[in-house]
Amino acid sequence: MARYTGPVCKLCRREKEKLFLKGERCLTDKCAMERRPFVPGEHGKRFTKPSQYSAQLREKQKAKRIFGVLEKQFKRYYDIAAKQKGITGENLLKILETRLDNIVYHLGFARSRAEARQSVKHGHFTVNSRRVDIPSYRVKQGDIIGLTDHGSKVEKIKESFKSTSKSEIPSWLEVDSKAVIGKILNLPTREQIDISIKEELIVELYSK
Ligand code: SF4
Repeated sequence: MARYTGPVCKLCRREKEKLFLKGERCLTDKCAMERRPFVPGEHGKRFTKPSQYSAQLREKQKAKRIFGVLEKQFKRYYDIAAKQKGITGENLLKILETRLDNIVYHLGFARSRAEARQSVKHGHFTVNSRRVDIPSYRVKQGDIIGLTDHGSKVEKIKESFKSTSKSEIPSWLEVDSKAVIGKILNLPTREQIDISIKEELIVELYSK
């Protein structure tokens, strides 16, 4: 499956905010947004008032970058969201939030969504005791996320899980630290999705 392989910190600089794409580094003064908090390129420091289209486009790009999804798949998610009952923008965020790589990240098995995606692809996780190696796999209410035998021996995963405090886990998920598993208590509501995206702008962009 295609993924972005270019410089990651440039993505944050382009969106003029921290998107936390690199795990621990994002919390240190090595973060590029601490050192160069302006848009990359020759005219990066120039102030221009964003047009309505530009604001909508930037919001879509930001969402894609946070969740590590490319245009084709993002549009597919939008089409699914638009067909569902309820508010399209919220449906879209819920679809993105329930991707397996995002759940693995939220449960503390990885420091970033990119790391989570790689671990899933390497086949380190199970859903309801069955090995799943598809990062875009969508979880359902009641699903149990665990580690495969091989995954439970991976130092990086163990360390990340151990060092994640329960307060960092979203309220719609539950972690059993002893059994090293996570459970989807319910599908998230918009209030439970702690992400600074104005999803209505994305809907406006695609509705043109
Ligand atoms: Fe973004 Fe993290 Fe890079 Fe900072 S270190 S610019 S938050 S990816």
